[in-house]
Amino acid sequence: MSFVDELAAALPDGAVVTDPDILETYRYDRTDWLTPGQPAVAAFPRTTAEVAAAVKVAAAHRVPIVPRGAGSSLAGGSQAIDGCLILCVERMERILDVDEVDQTVTVEPGVLNADISTATAPYGLWYPPDPASKAFCSIGGNIATNAGGLCCVKYGVTRDYVLGLEVVLADGTVIETGRRTIKGVAGLDLTGLMVGSEGTLGIVTRARLRLRPTPDGAATLVAFFPTLTSAGDAIAAITRAGLVLSLMEIMDRTTVSAVDDAYRMGLDRDAAALVLLQSDSPVPVRGAEVARAAELCEAAGASYTATTEDAEEADALLQARRLAIPALEAQGTMLLDDVAVPRSRVPELLARAEDIAAQHEVTIGTFGHAGDGNLHPSLVVPREDDGTVLQRAMTAFDDLVLAALDLGGTITGEHGVGRVKAPFLEREIGADNLAVQRRIKRELDPLGLLNPGRWL
Ligand SMILES: Cc1cc2nc3c(=O)[nH]c(=O)nc-3n(C[C@H](O)[C@H](O)[C@H](O)COP(=O)(O)OP(=O)(O)OC[C@H]3O[C@@H](n4cnc5c(N)ncnc54)[C@H](O)[C@@H]3O)c2cc1C
Repeated sequence: MSFVDELAAALPDGAVVTDPDILETYRYDRTDWLTPGQPAVAAFPRTTAEVAAAVKVAAAHRVPIVPRGAGSSLAGGSQAIDGCLILCVERMERILDVDEVDQTVTVEPGVLNADISTATAPYGLWYPPDPASKAFCSIGGNIATNAGGLCCVKYGVTRDYVLGLEVVLADGTVIETGRRTIKGVAGLDLTGLMVGSEGTLGIVTRARLRLRPTPDGAATLVAFFPTLTSAGDAIAAITRAGLVLSLMEIMDRTTVSAVDDAYRMGLDRDAAALVLLQSDSPVPVRGAEVARAAELCEAAGASYTATTEDAEEADALLQARRLAIPALEAQGTMLLDDVAVPRSRVPELLARAEDIAAQHEVTIGTFGHAGDGNLHPSLVVPREDDGTVLQRAMTAFDDLVLAALDLGGTITGEHGVGRVKAPFLEREIGADNLAVQRRIKRELDPLGLLNPGRWL
């Protein structure tokens, strides 16, 4: 029997798709500037047993598998590979259990990030990691990329919230990792190994996640700066002062103008940078924290500051930040970089991004999670470009990654290595470290079928 016939026989009706038009939509992720391969078939399992069955058939036929959640990867991680099976878990979308006392939630991998906090809100509980894509990315994808987000500066990243996983391995074996308890040191940390493994070691089919009590509000500060470095200095001063804010985001002039062009928000387009800060400490601490942050911004040279405790006003400001990517995408093809540096070096990274833009004569819009040193300098290539600007932008993209490494940082803060950063991984972690990672990969996936050709 052919691979597709055997797959169709192993899964329920409607779970296997070969329609070229549908395959075309699942070929891509959000890494628009890279061309994906041509998949052979896509499968949409609803249960762990169905995932395991699909994996076994693929292994028997030596067909590569691209695990897929919602396809919002910006690292080319969920793009199709030639001849692959796209194993998409979007139909595994149940929230299975909320435990109020243990403050945990158990979910299937296709559940969208934002839907978790919506479901746990009636219990006064909240799932903190909040990628800007939270409305449309899946928790399985978040776990596979160890996603970060806006409030991670205070609350940590996905890894800090994953207590245990159910994972289908490359031979179809189903394992449980982790525990139900807050503490626990039995055996090697396979949960930690799976988090951030980008679909190369197994397919996450269930996750038990920690929750936190929902904060009862927040105070928000917006500050505009005349130079990028003064904005960077303000962020460094706030951190040095020991203020633990729940959000510290930055957008440069190019990004602010793109958001204003696309969504007409009345933002100050003359300022070099917009900084958004938030404290979700209890009243009255949050007001005092934000007032102190405003003083520090002004001391660093802010041209304008304003604070609000109104939830709607704050959400509109945060929305401006969340719309940064679609707004820049509206201006052309976007090569979105994702690098992180020690917080103390954010001003230098901002200055390097400006220099690189000037040197290669390209447009770079920089925005990101300045509080944890994770920035997204993004190159925008006009759609009518004949390839000349794209070539310069690709060189500038590489230079940004190298600048982050030079400043003691990392090639990816949250989007993952995927296809995009694979050429840089060894430079960051070293040959011996990478060799160990490849040995682990070979042990768990000897046929090399899970998301091959990325970085492992
Ligand atoms: C506008 C926009 C804003 C964004 N903002 C942020 C942000 O603030 N922070 C951030 O971290 N990211 C952000 N991202 C990137 C992206 O949303 C994240 O990487 C997200 O975690 C991907 O989830 P997904 O469900 O779309 O995964 P996919 O794109 O489907 O897959 C991503 C990777 O995970 C693997 N994978 C997916 N599901 C599974 C599974 N069940 N088991 C094993 N492997 C799996 C895939 O093989 C792939 O390698 C943003 C993206 C966009 C488009």
